[in-house]
Amino acid sequence: MLGAMLTDAYARKFSYLRLSITEKCNFSCKYCLPEGYKPSAHAPEPELSLSEIRNLLAGISHAGFRKIRITGGEPTLRPDLLQIIEAASETPGIEIRALSTNGWNLRSISKKLKLAGLTHLNVSVDSLDRQRFLKLCGRDSLHLVLAGIEEALALQFAGVKINAVLHRDSAQSELEHFLEYVKSRPLTVRFIELMRTGERGEYRDRHFLSAGGLKLHLLARGWKPLERELSSGPAHEFYHPDFSGRIGLIAPHSDGFCESCNRLRVTSQGKLKLCLFGEKDESIRPFLQSKEVALGLDLRIQQLLVQKPGAHFLSEGRTGGARNFSVMGG
Ligand code: SAM
Ligand code: SF4
Repeated sequence: MLGAMLTDAYARKFSYLRLSITEKCNFSCKYCLPEGYKPSAHAPEPELSLSEIRNLLAGISHAGFRKIRITGGEPTLRPDLLQIIEAASETPGIEIRALSTNGWNLRSISKKLKLAGLTHLNVSVDSLDRQRFLKLCGRDSLHLVLAGIEEALALQFAGVKINAVLHRDSAQSELEHFLEYVKSRPLTVRFIELMRTGERGEYRDRHFLSAGGLKLHLLARGWKPLERELSSGPAHEFYHPDFSGRIGLIAPHSDGFCESCNRLRVTSQGKLKLCLFGEKDESIRPFLQSKEVALGLDLRIQQLLVQKPGAHFLSEGRTGGARNFSVMGG
């Protein structure tokens, strides 16, 4: 029997797990891993194995989770990514199987992702300008990423989204480029406010722009806010009758952002994080050694959920344990 949804002290229900499957990354985004991925100096704990991930999937499905996002680091660097997606597809109850990727090899793998049972795809594209993309992400790969997105659109995933991190100096021109881009493409481009992390606080302060200005701009140009669906996540989306695609804004610094939180996170080493910016994490790896034991995760998560804070303290500069987002998948 599939379980009822877990609930926290603020009556928020949890049905969405973001699972990082690796900390490794092949890009060096300025706000995340500006020097590229460097393995930890002290012997790192190994990544969760495929068998541990299978048990995790059984456990969270039993606990009422219906959506999983595979993230990283760069999840496509894991050789068993397709098997992980297949495992999620074979798990009863996990109806939405999403992937976040920087898109470097999307062109060659999107068909395989679809066949493995992936339903939703988020691709990070911070700029549609080749030079700026290179400057922000450390790779001259914009053309490859965009070709991968075209391929994914042709395959008709249930949802394809682009994530673009907002930067003060380029937001206006990126908005214009992306509006042009979504004119004929049925996908959502979501602008994300730059968030403070332990390692990149100074970068964030230099480049941060609130999404509020973009919202006013969109409204003035005839864009209308969409009703929010339960699984649509933290974005406020806008539509326009003359455009095939949509624009979304993710504004974690705005009031009430945490009220609709429906997600938990598990790191690539099996640590449960109640909040992206939470101080604490708890290893659930001991639960992942057999399917039978994993079915007890619902009780453990429910006990831990009592400690989930009502909101993050980002506006007070408190980033909790978030060194950078490659560790727990953003
Ligand atoms: N490598 C994949 C990618 O880039 O999509 C998945 C992991 S990445 C950490 C997930 C998302 O977090 C990306 O859309 C990235 O732009 C976003 N991100 C990383 N650091 C961020 C920050 N400091 N503020 C806002 N978004 C951030
Ligand atoms: Fe890698 Fe994604 Fe971080 Fe960029 S945002 S460095 S692609 S993990």
